[in-house]
Amino acid sequence: MIGKVYLTGAGPGDFELLTLKALRVIREADVIVYDRLVNPDILKEAKSDCECIYVGKEDKHHILPQNEINTLLYAKAQKHKVVVRLKGGDAVVFGRGGEEALFLASHGIDFEFIPGITSAIAVPQMANIPITHRGKSVSFRVVTGYEAPSKGYAQLNWETFKQDETIIFLMGLHQLENICKQLIKIGKPKDYPVAVISRGTLVDEKVMVATLENIYEKAKDLPTPALIIVGKVVTLRELLQGEI
Ligand code: SAH
Repeated sequence: MIGKVYLTGAGPGDFELLTLKALRVIREADVIVYDRLVNPDILKEAKSDCECIYVGKEDKHHILPQNEINTLLYAKAQKHKVVVRLKGGDAVVFGRGGEEALFLASHGIDFEFIPGITSAIAVPQMANIPITHRGKSVSFRVVTGYEAPSKGYAQLNWETFKQDETIIFLMGLHQLENICKQLIKIGKPKDYPVAVISRGTLVDEKVMVATLENIYEKAKDLPTPALIIVGKVVTLRELLQGEI
């Protein structure tokens, strides 16, 4: 029997930010292949005989290399009806869900994407930072702060960051100083607002709000996962928190 692989996201952390569609396939799953950022409580929803396989991937730290994850999904779909590939946030936002889908499609395995709630939008929002706001940002972009050293970090074209928009950096905490310096270099004011949100939507969430000039000192040691949000919308937080 050849099964189907559901490529889905578990949301950013808070259990209740899991979609109903993802929850349905998790409850039906014979096998779940999951990443490090998945809230462990979600796995308790699986059938008691469901095989849950941890492939522990966060940022660049892989337990199983991507090609082995691909072949694992392939092998499990050969033997089981419902295979769920569960990732943090949304499976295709820096989650390599597209690569896994391509591999499965090219090997004749049926798959389906189920969208998840991405941390890029949900984490700032639950910290009272709406990512767009009339008069404060014309657009938003989600950027990876991590690029393989072999490719060179300079791959990001900083000149394109001049627009007054909201920028969300995922996997960027270890590059925080460089990111801020680059943004100042292309002309953003030193007092431009930035926030780092660590373990967003979880009970131990930490939020640090500062400026391009001083966020590094304040936030560099926050626990991961953490994202960086740059832009005028960051100033909304203190208004929404009732802090001023
Ligand atoms: N597919 C995921 C992102 C994968 S990249 C999604 O859609 O959310 C992993 C990065 O996401 C982390 O390095 C961090 O920058 C961010 N991230 C994920 N969960 C987070 C959380 N709960 N709080 C803060 N950042 C988070």
